[in-house]
Amino acid sequence: MKIVMLGAPGAGKGTQAKMIAEKYGIPHVSTGDIFRANIKNGTELGKEAKQYMDQGKLVPDELTVKILLDRVAQDDCKNGYVLDGFPRTIPQANVLDEALTKLGDKIDYAVNVDVPDENIINRMGGRRACVACGATYHVVYNAPKTEGICDVCGKELIIRDDDQPETVKNRLNVYHEQTQPLIDFYEEKGVLKSVDGTVDMKDVFAAIVEILGE
Ligand SMILES: [Zn+2]
Repeated sequence: MKIVMLGAPGAGKGTQAKMIAEKYGIPHVSTGDIFRANIKNGTELGKEAKQYMDQGKLVPDELTVKILLDRVAQDDCKNGYVLDGFPRTIPQANVLDEALTKLGDKIDYAVNVDVPDENIINRMGGRRACVACGATYHVVYNAPKTEGICDVCGKELIIRDDDQPETVKNRLNVYHEQTQPLIDFYEEKGVLKSVDGTVDMKDVFAAIVEILGE
């Protein structure tokens, strides 16, 4: 079972990817993690990727896909995997698709965790973090006992740069421009499965299990 996770930043697709991986016993493959692992282990692919990164350049899609295929060729992926964080653009999806086709392989499901922008803005805009110990809160879903004060250490809570409304809106704009077209891409391939991501994460997962099977 080969799965691609789709969804806006803050839609909770990483959490769902981990839950899928655990239930079906397949690895959760995050491109960020495999980049770090290749660089840390000093592999040839890692060295190549690092050259681009050191120059402040984006790693080319072809190289990213090579690193990804190298990861999913490992033994623990023989029953499938969940890709999280890749592909993010149509060119990346095309490179991945061509590479898998060459191997006589394909993506079986593209699971889209669907959450409207306003819900994402509410979720992320309500996040607070402690300046001292890093504990995180949410003004609605996980409020501290005293407003603006950390339960753990009593220091002040702030809105992190990542959670500032302008940053969230910018990330959503990038998502709509570059990543959302993947929904149509996988729809055309007949593998798109959308679930309502506004409900409790357990219910989101239950909907996914209904699609993937017990
Ligand atoms: Zn604290």
